[in-house]
Amino acid sequence: MTAHVPLTTSARDVSASIDPVKLDRLAEVAIKVGLQLQPGQDLVLTSSIAALPLTRRIVEHAYKAGAGLVTPIFNDDEITLARFRHGASAGFDHAAGWLYEGMAKAFSNNAARLAVRGDDPSLLSGQDAAKVARANKANSMAYQPALEKITGFDINWNIVAYPETAWAKQVFPGEGVETAVAKLADAIFAASRVDGDDPVGAWKLHNTVLKARTDWLNGHRFHALHFTGPGTDLTVGLADGHEWMGGASTAKNGITCNPNIPTEEVFTTPHALRVSGHVSSTKPLSYQGTLIDDISVRFEAGRIVEAKASKGADVLNKVLDTDEGSRRLGEVALVPHSSPISKSGLLFFNTLFDENAACHIALGQCYSKCFVDGARLTPEEIASRGGNKSLIHIDWMIGSGQIDIDGVHADGRTVPVMRQGEWA
Ligand code: ZN
Ligand code: ZN
Repeated sequence: MTAHVPLTTSARDVSASIDPVKLDRLAEVAIKVGLQLQPGQDLVLTSSIAALPLTRRIVEHAYKAGAGLVTPIFNDDEITLARFRHGASAGFDHAAGWLYEGMAKAFSNNAARLAVRGDDPSLLSGQDAAKVARANKANSMAYQPALEKITGFDINWNIVAYPETAWAKQVFPGEGVETAVAKLADAIFAASRVDGDDPVGAWKLHNTVLKARTDWLNGHRFHALHFTGPGTDLTVGLADGHEWMGGASTAKNGITCNPNIPTEEVFTTPHALRVSGHVSSTKPLSYQGTLIDDISVRFEAGRIVEAKASKGADVLNKVLDTDEGSRRLGEVALVPHSSPISKSGLLFFNTLFDENAACHIALGQCYSKCFVDGARLTPEEIASRGGNKSLIHIDWMIGSGQIDIDGVHADGRTVPVMRQGEWA
């Protein structure tokens, strides 16, 4: 699941190549399915300037649904880059803490949260890695009060995607800008299930299918999952009293939302101290503008003790040093290799999509809701059950058509969960 929402972006208006009917359906689904925004409820929305054609429609649907006050917060790629090109070095340990504190306060007052994402996956790739790491860390620390309310599901929240130019060019490098944007738009619409005439109905059905998976896994309540495949032999202990989630989820404010659009995953909380073995990534990871590729790590007693990457290794290793919890897992998620996003054959360079094409694990903060009775547990109780705590939450893909997964019970008994990337 994707929750961390940094404020970066992209520009140039090619929105004419995007189907306006489907774009409007996506906006409607974001409000009616993604958030289930309630009459009178406020909404805090982040978006890039480039995503305005979608963001304006979302705001329209929000007010039609009875929204109280919608507060948009905008960002822009060129403005982000200007900082890295011209900003004084001393400034890179700063972040807009006041803004995130305000967001946290809005969430405490039951405002919903929506992020429109379409960032350039490589925006910061050419910038000084040390500055990128410092800015990321400062941002993560400042964002913590707001992120906690999101990962703790205090409120209904949603992330939805818009096909910005630089992103489209990276997914379809051989195409002209207009064609690339049109193709990425179609891929987003298909993955987000707004292709048909009744997208809200399609989401209801999809949520039922995901619920059948979580019910099966929750029935077994495995002690651990064992992943095997090329470059991977990994045992992921599951937290005590963990609960599998997927699709629709009821936040502590009582509203049932679909936090990620698209979503194909079922996921739960690993035990922070019981992960061992080695694992290799199966897709590149785009982390706040830096591509990290061919990650391979080794775990001992839950902690990453060795990490390599063919690209972006310096950023990866700095991220791992963020805090004590950044070398431990906060999420494990299962996605069949035949998921529609995986079948599209596209590499999106965007976690919201790529994590829904493959089984994945996430470094850092766990979702406190992924426990039996999770909404009532204190942070201490979550920690004692094995829930990890960190400033970061970074999903990366370890699944493929060559991965087998077994569920392991406490007495050592095993049950096939996936074979060759498909539900067994
Ligand atoms: Zn996930
Ligand atoms: Zn995640």
